[in-house]
Amino acid sequence: MYDFNQCKCCGKQSGKPKYNLKNMVLYACCECDFHYTNVLDGFEQGDADPRHLTTNELHFIESQLAQNTNQLTRDLDFVRQHTEVAGSACLDVGCGAGVFPALLHQAGARVSAIEPQLLLRQFCRTRFNITPRHEVVDSPYWQQGFAEHFDLVTLWDTLEHVNFPAATIAGINRVMKPHAYLFLDTPARESFTYRLSEWSYRLSKGRNPLMLNSLYSGKRFGHKQIFTQTQLRELLEQHCFTVIARSTLHRSKNKHVIVCQKNG
Ligand SMILES: [Zn+2]
Repeated sequence: MYDFNQCKCCGKQSGKPKYNLKNMVLYACCECDFHYTNVLDGFEQGDADPRHLTTNELHFIESQLAQNTNQLTRDLDFVRQHTEVAGSACLDVGCGAGVFPALLHQAGARVSAIEPQLLLRQFCRTRFNITPRHEVVDSPYWQQGFAEHFDLVTLWDTLEHVNFPAATIAGINRVMKPHAYLFLDTPARESFTYRLSEWSYRLSKGRNPLMLNSLYSGKRFGHKQIFTQTQLRELLEQHCFTVIARSTLHRSKNKHVIVCQKNG
């Protein structure tokens, strides 16, 4: 059982409950002001579950693909502005329906992928002939078998979902070659919606948290933490990354989109 008074970003015993939300409590750290929920995911074991995608589930995931593909095609352009993709050993952490690994594969990369959700892994196999691993990046499977292995790691819309973001970033660092590239995007706490929702919560004494209940989620694999730009940069720097650039292809102020490089 995790002690949520321990901040999930800086690790200090400085976390305090701040907002009571639907089915969860949002903690804030007195030291670094990190915001995180008191929700953690349990993990299913491999592919032992015999359940398969229903037709409805299949159609739902299919219906999201066009939008995902547009976004991820822009993400691939961003990657290519910084590094060679063809021939690179790539790891997509939290690959979802498999669109990005498929794009990387088309671009000539050697692709590995991680997706903890069984139904999405089944979709990846059915639709793209890609077989993601279920093991998270800081597990022995990756840490022992792939130390300093990858040229390129991507973390699209994933860091807000993981149980422990600091362990995820540390785990990613160890599977990367020196000077390899990490690309990531994640929601920004600086967004207008977030600030307005906090303001509304305070003013209504908790009765009206506006969008805080949808920016975070008490459901499995939902959003558990949202970073400010400073918190994200400091987390990466603490784990031996240097932030190189922010994307100019993504104009949304609701997201951090950055590239960083593992220190040598
Ligand atoms: Zn903290």
